[in-house]
Amino acid sequence: MTFPNHYSIATGLYPAYHGIIMNSFTDPVTGDKFNKGLDPKWWLGEPLWVTAANQGRKAVTYFWPGSEVPKDSWTCPKELCHEYGPDDPRVTAAVGRVDRMIGRVIQGLKKREIFDEVNVILLGDHGMVTNCDMKTIYIDDLAEWVKIPADWINAYSPVLAMNPKWGKDVKNPSEKNAELVAKMNEGLSSGKVENGVHECYGDHGYDNKYFSMRSIFIGHGPRFRQGKKVPSFENVQIYNVVAEILGLRPASNNGSSLFTRSILSSSGETGEVE
Ligand SMILES: [Zn+2]
Repeated sequence: MTFPNHYSIATGLYPAYHGIIMNSFTDPVTGDKFNKGLDPKWWLGEPLWVTAANQGRKAVTYFWPGSEVPKDSWTCPKELCHEYGPDDPRVTAAVGRVDRMIGRVIQGLKKREIFDEVNVILLGDHGMVTNCDMKTIYIDDLAEWVKIPADWINAYSPVLAMNPKWGKDVKNPSEKNAELVAKMNEGLSSGKVENGVHECYGDHGYDNKYFSMRSIFIGHGPRFRQGKKVPSFENVQIYNVVAEILGLRPASNNGSSLFTRSILSSSGETGEVE
């Protein structure tokens, strides 16, 4: 999902460690609701821009979830696929526009004769799969076997997230606050019967074992081993890679230094451009 993935890339932490476990969720203890808000209390860990700013470096972000949250030395001045699905020609056209924008950046670097001196990373936060109405599992249809009251449900799609409100008969408080998450198979969603009919749309948030949920990672520049292809890896590895390129001391995270060594050359220095 967009917010957990972006923040895992930026911090090198799994969602359970950085705190942003969904795009919106409820704190089961306090009842406070997170809905993409900027209150620093939700955003744990140390994102790259904070690592850089804390170590006296300049860092700039644009449109990165979490980057507007004030943290330590960091203060910051302030989607088409979901609507149509990834197979729609309008999405292909949008991808073409993004591709041309990236082309402009690369042409600009080449014109200034610094393309081979700048480390550039192209990546995505997740893949996307087409999800059609006919693939919706209506919770009400399951009532015969399992009754799930509507007020237990925090999210329907792409995972069914529930916070069961057990009665007073439950003695164990941790059981009372148990969150249940039902993983959906690729392309499936859950919903209410009154959701109505809609056309196919794009969705993500499924198990990352599905190829459709995977994204790209392309690194270019003096620190990347040229022509090196690596097997799929988890996005918590990326924080260490960027910290190493920038010569920053990484905060503790879930990535491994082995991965960094496998894609970066040990030589090379990184200068700061004024
Ligand atoms: Zn996203």
